[in-house]
Amino acid sequence: MTTDFTATRAMFHLPEGVVYLDGNSLGPMPKAAAARVEHTVTAEWGDMLIRGWNLAGWMAQPSRIGDRIGRLIGAPAGTVVMGDTLSIKVYQALASAFEINGSRRVVLSDTGNFPSDLYMAEGLCRTLGPEYRLVTVAPEAVADAIDDSVAVLMLTEVDYRTGRKHDMAALTAKAHAAGALTVWDLAHSAGALPVDLTAANADFAVGCTYKYLNSGPGGPAFIYVAPHHAETARPALSGWLGHEAPFAFDLSYRAGRGVERMRVGTPPVLQLAALEAAMDVWDMADIHDVRARSIELTDAFITGVEASCPTLTLASPRDGTLRGSQVSFRHAEGYAIMQALIALGVIGDFRAPDILRFGFTPLYTTMDDVTRATTILAEVMAGNLWDRPEYKAKALVT
Ligand SMILES: *Cc1c(COP(=O)(O)O)cnc(C)c1O
Repeated sequence: MTTDFTATRAMFHLPEGVVYLDGNSLGPMPKAAAARVEHTVTAEWGDMLIRGWNLAGWMAQPSRIGDRIGRLIGAPAGTVVMGDTLSIKVYQALASAFEINGSRRVVLSDTGNFPSDLYMAEGLCRTLGPEYRLVTVAPEAVADAIDDSVAVLMLTEVDYRTGRKHDMAALTAKAHAAGALTVWDLAHSAGALPVDLTAANADFAVGCTYKYLNSGPGGPAFIYVAPHHAETARPALSGWLGHEAPFAFDLSYRAGRGVERMRVGTPPVLQLAALEAAMDVWDMADIHDVRARSIELTDAFITGVEASCPTLTLASPRDGTLRGSQVSFRHAEGYAIMQALIALGVIGDFRAPDILRFGFTPLYTTMDDVTRATTILAEVMAGNLWDRPEYKAKALVT
C-alpha cells in the first residue's frame, strides 16, 4: 500500500470527539477547501469581478475538474464534465440514451435504485409519450430482465441502502448484447472504489461529488459520455453553455464539442472551487489502496457489531467485494438507535424503513474509529439507550 492514510486524514477538518461514518452522504470539509473558497470569493469574485471568467479560469473549471474525476472512474480526458445536480444529470443521460436507441421505449432499473433516479425516469417517460415506460425489477433479477424491448438499462452501481454492488461490466455486456444502452449512476462509487468505465464499455455515467468526493453541501454533479457517443448524443437540456459557441449568441442551438454539450447553464463557481481543493486529496491517494482499506474497515465493523449486537441484522453483502464502502444493519427501531448514536458522537444515518447506514472512508476513517463506533453501538443496544422520546421524533433530514 503506497497511500499514507495518516497524511490524507490530516487534510480534513474532523470535529473533536466525533466518529464520522456518514461521508457516503456528505463528505467532511477538506481544510484546503475553506481557504480555496475564501480566495475565490475575495481575490477572484471580489477583485476580478466579471473578469474572473477568463482571468481565474472559471469557464474552463467544469471540464478541468471533470478530467480529474475521470481519472478515478476510468474515463479518458475530455469525457467528463461538471454541473447541475445528479438528478438533472440522470435526466440528461437518459434522454440522450433514449434518443440514440430511438426505436425502443423501455428504461429498465431496479427497486433498490435511489428514488430520485426513478422519479426522473418516470418524468422523462411522461414527457416523451404514453408508450415510454420505466420498468423496475428486484436488483437480483436485473440480468434476466434485459430483453430486446429495453432501450436503456439505468442502474446505480452501489445500492444506497444496502451497499450491494452490481457487476457493471457483466450487466453492460448483457445490455449491449440485447441492443440496449447503459446509464450508470456512480453516486456511491466515485471515490469509494475503483471504477473503470472504459473497460466496462459503459455508455453514460453520472455521479455526485458531495459524498465520497467531499465537495461540500450542494456540490455539483458530473456526467460521462463514452467517446463513441459524444459527438452524436443530443442534450435534452440544451442550454447556452452546451452550445458550440455560447458567445456567438446564435438564435438556434448547435451542440458543443463532445461532453461539453452536456453543460447547461452558468457553473457554480464557489462550489467548484471547494471541489477543486477537495480533489487535491486524491493526488495523494491510490483508489485501489482506498478499496483495500475500506474492505478491512467494513469487515472489522461487521465482525464487531455481530459479536456485540445480536438484535441487529446485517443488510449488506457479507463478502466485501460485493459491496461498496458502507455497511448497513436493519432494526425496527433503527431511527431512534441512530439518534442515540449521534448524541454519543458516532454519526451515521438512517434510511427508511429500518436501515442504519455507516459509511467508511479510508481517507479519514481509521481502525480506531471502527472500534469506538462498535463499542458505543454495543452500549446503545445493551442499555436500550435509544428508548427515549427525543430520539424518536423524526427530523426533516434523516
Ligand atoms: C445521492 C444520490 C442522488 C442525489 O441527487 P441530487 O440531485 O444530487 O440531490 C441521486 N441518485 C443517487 C443514486 C444518489 O445516491
